[in-house]
Amino acid sequence: MQRIIVIFGPPGAGKGTQAKFLSDKFNIPQISTGDILREAVKKGTSLGAQAQSYMSRGALVPDEVMVGIVEERIKDKDCSNGFILDGFPRTIAQTEKLEKLLQKRGTPLTQVINLKISDKEIIKRLTSRRVCRSCNAIYNLLVNPPKVKGKCDVCGGELYQRDDDKEEVVKKRLKIYADETTPVLNFYSKRKLLKELDGSRSINEVQGAVLAIFQLLLTQ
Ligand code: AMP
Repeated sequence: MQRIIVIFGPPGAGKGTQAKFLSDKFNIPQISTGDILREAVKKGTSLGAQAQSYMSRGALVPDEVMVGIVEERIKDKDCSNGFILDGFPRTIAQTEKLEKLLQKRGTPLTQVINLKISDKEIIKRLTSRRVCRSCNAIYNLLVNPPKVKGKCDVCGGELYQRDDDKEEVVKKRLKIYADETTPVLNFYSKRKLLKELDGSRSINEVQGAVLAIFQLLLTQ
């Protein structure tokens, strides 16, 4: 059985960290639409040029662009045993399109995990988040700082603050999340695909809770 998992939650809830954990555990790729866009911006591709103005002001990149990216990515060979979506779908239009793509593929969604966390905690987390320019490893200056200031523990790359992690932009992203992305939760809740977790706990605690969901699934 292919595992098709969506990790859902507001910016800063820990989607990337938990998606990476599950990706290692199940040996299926993590598809982070945010990472794909940032990579395109870094490489200066036409996708990057198109996406940058939306990203830097905390707005969503248009649905057609995002759906096209995911549609192509899930055709890759490494997705043949399933994949973990991190940061997609983010609107009802993307959600409906994903359903169609999965139907066509004959592989229904296994599980959606929503990481819940308060706006206050998100602002604290995101403004102290730093990311490695080379390998995308994520740090938090308050709870998970790098061993050497400004350098990645994994690859020694330079750590930076994303433009969209600055406080004014974070507030804008939260508003967009509330308006455009939370309706997706209702969609999955109605389909009984949604499990909600408290994302404000430590990384290890959330990992434990995520694993418990899959153990439960395996015994059903
Ligand atoms: P993330 O790293 O998931 O927080 O994504 C960073 C930014 O990339 C978002 O604020 C959006 O501008 C853009 N982005 C990523 N995924 C999507 C998506 N599924 N739909 C629209 N925009 C997206």
